[in-house]
Amino acid sequence: MANATYAYVNGDIVPFTDAKVHISSAGFKFGAGVFEGLRGYWNREHEQMYLFRMDEHMRRLEFSQSFMRFSQVIPGAEVQEKTLELLRANALHETVHIMTTCYVSGFGSPSAAGPVDLAVVTSPNVGPGLAETGAKVQVSSWQRLPDHVMPVRVKCNANYQNGRLAAMQAQVDGYDTALFLNTRGKVAEGHGMCFFMFRDGRAITPTLTSDILESITRDTVIQLLREDLGVEVIEREVDRSELALADEAFFCGTAWEVTAVVSIDQRPLGNGKPGPLVQALRKRYLDVAHGSVDTCPHWRTAVY
Ligand code: PMP
Repeated sequence: MANATYAYVNGDIVPFTDAKVHISSAGFKFGAGVFEGLRGYWNREHEQMYLFRMDEHMRRLEFSQSFMRFSQVIPGAEVQEKTLELLRANALHETVHIMTTCYVSGFGSPSAAGPVDLAVVTSPNVGPGLAETGAKVQVSSWQRLPDHVMPVRVKCNANYQNGRLAAMQAQVDGYDTALFLNTRGKVAEGHGMCFFMFRDGRAITPTLTSDILESITRDTVIQLLREDLGVEVIEREVDRSELALADEAFFCGTAWEVTAVVSIDQRPLGNGKPGPLVQALRKRYLDVAHGSVDTCPHWRTAVY
């Protein structure tokens, strides 16, 4: 699918190719922007698109703007309204990825705080493309940004160069992607996704104080594992050597959904293929996100 016909920027829905920011803006020059990536899941049977966990994404977008001391916080309700308007203008009837970005459009130094503008773009549903095979993962030689250096629970554009370096190094070295350790040497997360592993039927994931994003998918997955699949979930520190004891593992995030990790540093997990627990969880996640089952209707916002 080609890019959408329209984008939203600076108060208007404009042709996609006319959605521009000024090269002197602090958003462009210094990464003074915060964003949310969302998914709109198309349900063929309902002839409906559902935005997954819109409220939680909008709350985090407000927090990101205020934490970064933007001069103005664009309310989540306004971002939601403009996003719905744009999706309807693009008349999309397929699963899409949506980026909502609030950025400093004013000129000046890295500490410029305003004005703040909103940009929304929708794009084809391009995930990592590893759903069938699972991901071959490298423990990165780059460390996850520590929260006392950059705020990791804020989705600030500038943070993402940390993950970019790790992901690109992994690809240069022949892996699909990277897993970060934090500066304390414990397992943290991927460049845009959280990490879980299974040991003896239990799920284990790093704590929220491991220099990770407070991921909405992580929260979803914890609930689905505990309540729907009856799997115990433990949030605790994870050592690097413990990775070799995992029976199965996966990454999760809005873009990655639930994607199996099949090897780490060239050590296969289990039989080196996506395992039964990850596959069951992935199916459940996609069923809930598409609204194919009734579970948690408050997680889905209908577009049409
Ligand atoms: N970690 C990082 C660094 C991310 O950028 C993302 C994607 N937003 C995630 C984890 C997953 O978060 P979420 O489930 O809220 O999309």
